[in-house]
Amino acid sequence: MRYALTWSTARIANIRDVAPTIREFTLVPEEGARPYAPGSHINVAVVIDGQPDHRSYSLVGAGDGSCYRIAVRQHEDSRGGSRYMWSLPEGARLSLTEPHNLFPLEFGRPEYLLIAGGIGITPMVAMASALARTGASWRMIYVAKSLTDAAFLDDLAAQHGARIETRFSDEGRRLDLDAEIAALAPEAQLYLCGPLRLLDAARASWAKAGRAAADLRFETFASGGLFAPEPFRVKIPRLGVDLEVPVDRTILDTLEAAGVDVMADCRRGECGLCVLDVLGVEGAIDHRDVFLSDHEKQSNAKICACVSRAVGGSITLDTAYRP
Ligand SMILES: Cc1cc2nc3c(=O)[nH]c(=O)nc-3n(C[C@H](O)[C@H](O)[C@H](O)COP(=O)(O)OP(=O)(O)OC[C@H]3O[C@@H](n4cnc5c(N)ncnc54)[C@H](O)[C@@H]3O)c2cc1C
Repeated sequence: MRYALTWSTARIANIRDVAPTIREFTLVPEEGARPYAPGSHINVAVVIDGQPDHRSYSLVGAGDGSCYRIAVRQHEDSRGGSRYMWSLPEGARLSLTEPHNLFPLEFGRPEYLLIAGGIGITPMVAMASALARTGASWRMIYVAKSLTDAAFLDDLAAQHGARIETRFSDEGRRLDLDAEIAALAPEAQLYLCGPLRLLDAARASWAKAGRAAADLRFETFASGGLFAPEPFRVKIPRLGVDLEVPVDRTILDTLEAAGVDVMADCRRGECGLCVLDVLGVEGAIDHRDVFLSDHEKQSNAKICACVSRAVGGSITLDTAYRP
C-alpha cells in the first residue's frame, strides 16, 4: 500500500437515503474524527461472502471534527462491498481508517471547473465549499441520470447558487466537454470524479485543447468498464498456469489465490504496478484502468491485472517475476 492503514471503531449515528440508490452514513469514530482536506476518503471494513475486505469512501463535506459523512451507491453487479454497507442499520459499529487524500485540491489557480458524474459528487461537495471560502473563480457541472438521482444537489444549489450547473440525461442535456474546456482561463484546473467513460472523454478533450495533463485532476472509484464482467480464463504458459477468473474476482485476485507473485499497490487501476504483458487474447480486453495510455490500450500489449478483464474467451499473460 502507498500508506499504512490504521483501523479504529466508529458508530453509525445516522443513515439517510439521499437518492434512490445512494445512502448517506454519518459515522462517529470512538476516538473522534480527524481533520481532513477536500478530496479525502476513508477506508471502511466490509464483509464479502464471509471474508473481510475493505472499500474506500470519499468524505462528504468539510466535517465538523465529530463525525465523518460518506455516501454509498448501491451496485447491482458488484462483489458485495456496497451491499454490505447498505445492510448496516443505525447504531451498528464498523471499523474505519483515518482520512487519506489521493485527490488533493491545489489552491491559487485563476479558475476551476469541477465535474461530478453520478456518485462522483461525494468529494466535490467539500471542494466546492473550500473554493467558495477562498473566493476563487469556479463552477461545478453535475452530470447525472436525472434530478432524482442527483444526491446533495439541493444543498449545493442552496449554498452556491448559479455556480452549480446540471446536465441530466433524461432531459437530453449533454455535457459539451470541448466547449467547457475551451472557455476556461489559461492555467485553469479541471477536477473530475465520475465514471471511466466520462474521464476518458475529458482527458481526450483536455489533450485536444493543448492543456497541461497535470492540470486535469481526477479520481476514479474503480468503476465498471465497457462490458459487463463475465468469467474468462487466464493463462501464464511459463508458469503452467491456466485458471478461471470468476465474474466477481479480478485477474490479480485469481493469480494471488493460486500463489502467483504479482506486484500490486492501489488495486484500482491507477498506479500501474500490476501491469502484465499480454501474449495473446481470445475475445477482447476490457481495459478498466486509468494508467495505460489510449495507444497502449489499443495495442493490447499490456493489462492492469487489478481491474481490467477479458471478455469472450481467455487471455494469455506473462509476469515480470523471474525466479
Ligand atoms: C478513493 C475512492 C473513493 C471512493 N468513494 C466512493 C464514494 O464516495 N461512494 C461510493 O459509492 N463509492 C466510492 N468508491 C467506490 C467504493 O470503494 C466501492 O468500490 C463501491 O462501493 C463498490 O464496491 P462493491 O464491492 O459493491 O463493488 P465492486 O465489486 O467493487 O464493483 C464496482 C464496479 O466494478 C465492477 N466489477 C464488479 N466485479 C468486478 C471484477 N471482478 N473486476 C472488475 N470490475 C468489477 C462492477 O461492474 C461495478 O461497476 C470509492 C473508491 C475509491 C477508490
